[in-house]
Amino acid sequence: MKLARTVEGLAPSGIRLFFDGVAEMDDVISLGVGEPDFGTAWRVREAAIYGLERGRTTYTANSGLLELRQAVAGHLRRRYGLEYDPAKELLITVGVSEALDLALRALLDPGDEVLVPEPSYVAYPPCVVLSGGVPVALPTLAEDAFVPKAKAVTRLVTARTRVLLLNYPNNPTGAAPTRAELLELAEVVRRHDLTVISDEIYDRLSYDRPHVAFASLPGMAERTLLLNGFSKTYGMTGWRVGYAAGPAELIGGMTKIHQYTALCAGRSAQEAAIVALRVPEREVQAMVDDYDARRRLIVGGLNRIGLPCHLPAGAFYAFPSIAPTGLSAQEFAEGLLHEGRVAVVPGDAFGAGGAGHVRCAYATGLDQIEEALERIERFVVSLQGGRRIAKGLTAAV
Ligand code: PLP
Repeated sequence: MKLARTVEGLAPSGIRLFFDGVAEMDDVISLGVGEPDFGTAWRVREAAIYGLERGRTTYTANSGLLELRQAVAGHLRRRYGLEYDPAKELLITVGVSEALDLALRALLDPGDEVLVPEPSYVAYPPCVVLSGGVPVALPTLAEDAFVPKAKAVTRLVTARTRVLLLNYPNNPTGAAPTRAELLELAEVVRRHDLTVISDEIYDRLSYDRPHVAFASLPGMAERTLLLNGFSKTYGMTGWRVGYAAGPAELIGGMTKIHQYTALCAGRSAQEAAIVALRVPEREVQAMVDDYDARRRLIVGGLNRIGLPCHLPAGAFYAFPSIAPTGLSAQEFAEGLLHEGRVAVVPGDAFGAGGAGHVRCAYATGLDQIEEALERIERFVVSLQGGRRIAKGLTAAV
């Protein structure tokens, strides 16, 4: 059947492509997919079960349950000092994924340009294209710990630039700019009258310093759409609930699209999300501490093996360079999967800027990470006998 040209032209997700077939392989440790191994807390699950038992199985308001919007507004006020009107400035969506799609469709006219840091989450460029926009790669470099530089943004701005997409802490690099670095970006945003879509889904997984919400910077609330959700912080990937918070005009435009397409996020998921926002801070912090221990283990291990890796400031991804092996990211990931039985994602699945790196998700237990590191080390050492090995690796190992 003939498909729309835009869809025909979309490349399949590099992650999915790579993982087709991995599920059927035996004894593979997956550092592949960004899926928390912390399940949803019991009292959160119970809220949904209770609602179902009481027959609460209908649509909700298009914008989402008012109680959930109020709870989200309270959460953003307490954490970041942000003020959003639950009636006009908040929309409950089917995950951050839907919120991103709605935002791009509401903002872009055909040919409008969106600056997308690279490497970045796989969905960004295709979603821009599906909205009629043009993704423009904003390179971020390992030597800058993958933080985008204000100067690089300035160089890329044209008369068509409409949106700067930010995602900090970042998937796949774990980068999280400091407040000073964000202020520099904010200055460029103001100077060029850009709108920022800030995907802050990993906000709670900030290890070394408190997360700074981009909208909380001076003058940024009126030009920033904050996206967040429940998938990562509350182990709720399958529930499909998230939210967008921002200027009433933009939320109004997004709600128009949402009411004709998704209608509303699932009621049970919304009821569960209300309870998730009541999970005591110490429980969330215990999870963050756990990830932090994994972060230190995996980053220390990768560096010891000879795969240089900066300490990611947030999220649950390590992004080591595999350059010392002399292999491409694809060759390394394929070899490691088949010979070493460890699944990682080739860095170029996140854009050309990810070449020479692989993404290792550490959303898996410490013992699994230890075993994975041993396997990676064996694989890297085995390359020494191979003709593809780069000079210098022997010393590094
Ligand atoms: N944004 C980023 C940066 C992600 O890494 C992911 C999932 O991996 C998503 C959004 C998807 O979020 P959700 O499950 O809320 O749709």
